[in-house]
Amino acid sequence: MAKLVAKFGGTSVADIERIERAADKVAKEVERGNQVAVVVSAMSGVTNALIEHCSNVDSLYDAREYDSVVASGEQVTAGLMAMALQKRGIAARSWLGWQVPIICSDVHGKARILEINPDELNKRLEKGEVAVLAGVQGITHSGRIATLGRGGSDTTAVALAAALDADRCDIYTDVDGVYTTDPRIVPGASKLKAVSYEEMLEMASLGAKVLQTRSVEMAFKREVPVQVLSSFGDAIGSDLPGTMVVKEEEIMEDHVVNGITYSRDDAKITILNLDDVPGVAAKVFGPLSKANVNVDMIIQDISTDGKLTDMTFTVPRGDAQRAKDVLLKCEDLKGAKIISSTDVAKISVVGIGMRSHAGVAQKMFSALADKGINIQVISTSEIKISVLIAEEYTELAVRTLHNVYGLEHLS
Ligand code: ADP
Ligand code: ASP
Ligand code: MG
Repeated sequence: MAKLVAKFGGTSVADIERIERAADKVAKEVERGNQVAVVVSAMSGVTNALIEHCSNVDSLYDAREYDSVVASGEQVTAGLMAMALQKRGIAARSWLGWQVPIICSDVHGKARILEINPDELNKRLEKGEVAVLAGVQGITHSGRIATLGRGGSDTTAVALAAALDADRCDIYTDVDGVYTTDPRIVPGASKLKAVSYEEMLEMASLGAKVLQTRSVEMAFKREVPVQVLSSFGDAIGSDLPGTMVVKEEEIMEDHVVNGITYSRDDAKITILNLDDVPGVAAKVFGPLSKANVNVDMIIQDISTDGKLTDMTFTVPRGDAQRAKDVLLKCEDLKGAKIISSTDVAKISVVGIGMRSHAGVAQKMFSALADKGINIQVISTSEIKISVLIAEEYTELAVRTLHNVYGLEHLS
């Protein structure tokens, strides 16, 4: 007998038929003698529609009320899933964030889970009841509903698995595993049997939306075995048909590069004619950090006259205007010219094998050069190389790199 958390994403609960199919999978796990806690997302499209309602009332809506509206999507699915399980003769009960309770921070719209009290759920799981939790939501210390951001049901599922000390967290979605790149862009992408927490963390934060970044962080920290699998086929989680996200030591294959990711969520800001003196970077990035703008890739040009220099960096696209406004107001940057562009994409190559293999970057740069794709900014870490390019070349770059590193038909 195993204790499992099974999470079903939006497309996997998009209509009643799919909810029924998901309930069949849960029922099969129960038949095999497993204890199951289910986490559900809102039905596909519902979260977008709810967000649009908020924006239609007021583009500067109150974040607390946004959370109250958006959390309703998951509430509907949790109730429906509990009913579908009851129809199959399974004792099932739905749980909203406040009922568990899942305590989270009060950063509305981007809250973090602080604590989950598993006692009542554990008692019920032991009696054979299936707990169906509404994903993405929790309750703050002051008693308000808060949500964890887009894709946050993944984080609810992993956090719940950690709190329950579950044997595995199954993330059912519309693809049958984690691929070497987004299979929607490269149909020949290979499914990975397993991927390390470190690589998955880089892939998620660099654009692979299959798992929310925070869910991977949490799985890594709490050592929760996570499986990404399809909700469409006949297999269930316990058949282990998907991709396992596990500790590096448990990975058998040793590919140098395991994934190519892309993100269109960045904007590029260039500051021209900055004084080339000590402290200039602090003058730029200090005010941005105070304004809560995360800066990612950075380059500073060498000054040719010893007096003035240029600096380019990226920020989340949604924060670009705010970042520009903050910099324009900066007394220290008077005389500098600030240019911003959203016509960029970040393409990254990820693999733990890079730690011990040279030449990965060179291969990337020459492959992009061969296609006439200009690299605007580069950043690296131990296991990834990212480049910023013009957005129009996103798909060409992803396909080219996927091919150059031999990621099709990987075994
Ligand atoms: P859910 O609604 O189930 O949470 P998401 O849309 O959030 O599903 O995540 C699944 C999607 O992630 C897939 O449909 C796929 O297009 C995308 N994706 C991006 N990169 C990858 C990757 N490397 N492997 C698998 N899927 C990926
Ligand atoms: N329904 C929410 C969203 O679309 C949360 C989730 O599905 O994880 O972002
Ligand atoms: Mg998702």
